[in-house]
Amino acid sequence: MTHSLISQGQTNRRKFLRSAASGAAAVILTPASGKDAPVSPVLIEEPFNGAILDRHHGRPCGGGLAVRVAGSAPESLRVVVNGTPARRKGNRFFSEVTLSQKVTEIVARCPGSGEEDRVRVVWDRFSSPRYDFALDDNIFFLRDIARQRYASLFDCFYLKMLRDWHRKYGTCFTANIYFASEDGFTLTAFPDRYMKEWKENADWLKLAFHAYADRPDRPYQDAPAAKLLGDYDRVAEQILRFAGPDTFATPTNLHWSMARPDALKALAQRGVRVLSGYFRPYNGRWDINYDLGAKRSEYLSRQDRLMDFDLGIIFIRDAIVCNENSVGQVAAVLDPLTRSGTDQKETINLLTHEQYFWPFYSRHLPDHPQRVEAAIRWVTDHGYKPAFFRDGLLGGAA
Ligand SMILES: [Zn+2]
Repeated sequence: MTHSLISQGQTNRRKFLRSAASGAAAVILTPASGKDAPVSPVLIEEPFNGAILDRHHGRPCGGGLAVRVAGSAPESLRVVVNGTPARRKGNRFFSEVTLSQKVTEIVARCPGSGEEDRVRVVWDRFSSPRYDFALDDNIFFLRDIARQRYASLFDCFYLKMLRDWHRKYGTCFTANIYFASEDGFTLTAFPDRYMKEWKENADWLKLAFHAYADRPDRPYQDAPAAKLLGDYDRVAEQILRFAGPDTFATPTNLHWSMARPDALKALAQRGVRVLSGYFRPYNGRWDINYDLGAKRSEYLSRQDRLMDFDLGIIFIRDAIVCNENSVGQVAAVLDPLTRSGTDQKETINLLTHEQYFWPFYSRHLPDHPQRVEAAIRWVTDHGYKPAFFRDGLLGGAA
């Protein structure tokens, strides 16, 4: 199957998903209007296109992972899944496919009519429990260090606090940073004299682009790729100047987690491989979701991660936003991730925001450090190991 045909299949699939209100509506065709071609009545519903599957999603089988395939097709049609006749029950079909390589294409086909659906899934073969920690909206600590001219980076309470957690728990942190703060400070004023210290700590502390500044909100939601890349390159240039290439990293998250598809594609060309977001419904609409649409956002809200093969980017749900949850709420938010079965999560993205640590900030949270440490303690106590999700396959061997 050529790339262009696969893309065509996915385009049809998206048209279909937009038109189908539920699985039961799977036999309804999109009306053929204008240039829209009719879509296949065969629909693979499970696994989800782009699913990242590990040992919790199937059973071991001859060195591979056997996973269930389920979908719908008109009852009268015979369905073959990757060459094997599927079991039929009404308009449903069921089969099993064994994953034996990193990416597997699953094809459900009606031999009689030639109609088909295709999905691709990723096998996280070497999966083990792991977590990453992203700090968003950073600029205050850089301004503080630049102004105070500390002897060491870690004379700044913020970086000392991160280092203490790293020493105690091994946590890896990425600080996603702004170019400018509201009072006019910019990264160009940050000195390069801490270069050696950045480098010495680059195995656990990375700096990455987040946005030009805190305001306006949603800076890239409707912005062309050139605007996003312009800001990205401006921040990247400064990180490389004052901290060096070992500390510079691709971002784990854009401010407000919204961007246009062309901008996401441009980010992928800059080497971005993983982006996190909330993937939550707000006022009946999925939001803080890179505009991935309802179907994929709903999936991410339950299954936490999804590969977009067109972009080459994995999207991951922030498992907890530490500033939003009191110490007492942390277990209630995270405990469901260890539920046995297909809901069990082996990749947990922890997130918080820098500003809530600073006493001068209007919404300062005096117990913010305790909130963050409670989340780190939870993942540590549950056997999750620190990782950078941008490395390998979400921090694991690929
Ligand atoms: Zn942000």
